Amino acid sequence: MTARILDGKALAEQVRARIGTEVAELFGEHGIQPGLAAVIVGEDPASQVYVGMKHKAAEAAGMHSRQVVLPTETSQEELEQVVVELNDDDRIDGILVQLPLPDHLDPKRIQELITPAKDVDALNPYTAGRLAIGDPTFLSCTPYGVLEILDANGIETAGAHVVIVGRSNLVGRPLANMLSLKGRDATVTVAHSRTKDLAAVCRTADVLVAAVGVESLVTAEHVRPGAVVIDVGTNRSADGRLVGDVAYDEVAEVASAITPVPGGVGPMTVTMLLQNTLEAARARRGMPRRP
Ligand code: NAP
Repeated sequence: MTARILDGKALAEQVRARIGTEVAELFGEHGIQPGLAAVIVGEDPASQVYVGMKHKAAEAAGMHSRQVVLPTETSQEELEQVVVELNDDDRIDGILVQLPLPDHLDPKRIQELITPAKDVDALNPYTAGRLAIGDPTFLSCTPYGVLEILDANGIETAGAHVVIVGRSNLVGRPLANMLSLKGRDATVTVAHSRTKDLAAVCRTADVLVAAVGVESLVTAEHVRPGAVVIDVGTNRSADGRLVGDVAYDEVAEVASAITPVPGGVGPMTVTMLLQNTLEAARARRGMPRRP
């Protein structure tokens, strides 16, 4: 079997075009231009690339996009003040603070300070808690992108057994909560570094999601023939290439469908940040959310 490739790049282009149309309509009909603010502290090169991508994508979708660039030596109080001002800024609908922050800053305290109505990165404990009780507000961007890839490719989650490898607050945990929501109806297993016989657990999956950060952790031995494999991992291989957590070539021979790296989940993460910002702009003005 050679797996169907689940093309996240093409899907991201389609979804961004749709978001761009909705942004233009919102502005044309109501004079509302959704606004996204990205705060970056310090000079981490990867963070600068990520924030730059988010900024360009927001502008391309017709949004108001603001980058707040702060020096490494910014204090906790100064950063908190920036977040408080963005919370109160009517031009801004979505706030993200790029992680990681320099070591002297407390990311949890910053995430808690972002007002839930603008928490488009969905890392505030209130937002995570709403999802955990089955009444979500914003969905975390990477897991949201995974669901969009499954839906766009007609991959049914109701009744399916999904095994997620990884239990981070950024990916594994919110994805497990989303998949087990009523209406989504997957049966979910969350595996992690202490899971016994990981390969055997993974082979029970109809849909296997790898969100670990270890190159080639998932091999053909982990995949039941015909399963769908979603690779969230982004790792640098020894020769400098961007690779996932899945040994792509051998797994593609066993799976029925697979996301590539790059060009799979990655492009959908930024896309869903735009979706959340659009939804935030509507919700703040009492307009209905996306169905
Ligand atoms: P993380 O916070 O480091 O969490 C990694 C998870 O993997 C942990 O739960 C850990 O288990 C588990 N793990 C580590 N080694 C394992 C092993 N040998 N067997 C089974 N489980 C193992 O990472 P993250 O933030 O979730 O990110 C995961 C990957 O996704 C990274 O490569 C990251 O770059 C990528 N990512 C990509 C996107 C995107 O847009 N494409 C977005 C976010 C993240 P314990 O909890 O037991 O330690």
